[in-house]
Amino acid sequence: MTDDPKLTSRQQSVLESMRGAIKTPPLPVRSCGDCAKCCEGWLSGSVYGHAFSPGTPCFFLEKTCSIYKDRPVDPCRHYRCGWLAEDTFPMWMKPNLVNVIITKRENKERKISYYVIDQAGDGFDQKALNWLVGWATRTNSNIECCFGGEVKRIGSPEFVAM
Ligand code: SF4
Ligand code: SF4
Repeated sequence: MTDDPKLTSRQQSVLESMRGAIKTPPLPVRSCGDCAKCCEGWLSGSVYGHAFSPGTPCFFLEKTCSIYKDRPVDPCRHYRCGWLAEDTFPMWMKPNLVNVIITKRENKERKISYYVIDQAGDGFDQKALNWLVGWATRTNSNIECCFGGEVKRIGSPEFVAM
């Protein structure tokens, strides 16, 4: 027995897809939130003439960005780490949780895109690294891991030899 009035099959299918949508939990929203790893001195860049680089945090970083509303377009507004930009990477791999920052790059000359994996903390999460290596192998993606001054590439022969 059903309370639904007589519906055409098309109406029934629309109704069922609406019911399905209501039951599906919303995807979690990705946002930087409490993460400031890209400002903490694990990546390199310059803001209003102040350089930051591995070991030197951004001049404007206090507990959070002290000039957030006035932060420049480049690099601050343009930069989105891989975790923030792509659903591919699991939620648990947020940079401040695993001490790893993923950055998508492209070698335009050779038309090769790849992901740079930077260490972003005194220790990094081995589980995250294992996940990234497994993912790159499964999906034929190119990754360049930069840990402790060492660079290791995994991916196509052309990328590895780059
Ligand atoms: S590392 Fe990614 S998630 Fe963290 S603040 Fe930077 S862009 Fe946002
Ligand atoms: S200006 Fe703000 S957003 Fe830009 S790198 Fe510095 S702390 Fe981060």
